[in-house]
Amino acid sequence: MPPNTDEPISSWLCCTCNGTGVVSDGSTCADCDGIGLDIHGA
Ligand SMILES: [Zn+2]
Repeated sequence: MPPNTDEPISSWLCCTCNGTGVVSDGSTCADCDGIGLDIHGA
């Protein structure tokens, strides 16, 4: 979990896969490693 838990989850959902962890072609999202969260803070 990110350290700042006051942030709404929608603010750190991966914007590449919209938090699904999977991209449109069915493969794992490379931006978030399939966890659906923007762990890179981009
Ligand atoms: Zn993603």
